[in-house]
Amino acid sequence: MKKVTKIKTQPNLQESRLRENFEMLDRIRDDTVNDIESLTKDFQHMTVVAESIRRNYRALLSENQLLKNTLLSIVEDCECWQSNRCDRCQKILKSLDNNNPDCPPNAAKEYRAILSQLRNLG
Ligand SMILES: [Zn+2]
Repeated sequence: MKKVTKIKTQPNLQESRLRENFEMLDRIRDDTVNDIESLTKDFQHMTVVAESIRRNYRALLSENQLLKNTLLSIVEDCECWQSNRCDRCQKILKSLDNNNPDCPPNAAKEYRAILSQLRNLG
C-alpha cells in the first residue's frame, strides 16, 4: 500500500517523456496512414483516367484504320488501274500519304514528339 502512494506522488519524468514520445509517434503514424490513403485514392483516380485515355485512343486508332481501309478499297474497286489512276483515286492516295507536303502536319509525329518531351520531363 505504501509503495503505490509513493509512485503517485513522485511522477517519473523519464516515463512521462516516453509517453509523450509514444503519443507523438502515434500521431505521426496516423498522419502517414492518412497521407498514404489519400495518395492511393489519387493513384486510383489517375489509373481510371489513364485507362479511359487508352480506351479512347484505341478506339480512335481503329476508327482511323477503318477509314484508311475504306478509302483504299474505294481505290481498289475503281475502274482505273494502278499505273493510271483517275483524279479521285489520286486525291485519295495523296491524302493517305503521310509524307505528302500538302497534307496537314502529321498528328502521329506531333503526338510522338509531345510524348517524348513529356517523358524527358519525368
Ligand atoms: Zn480511280
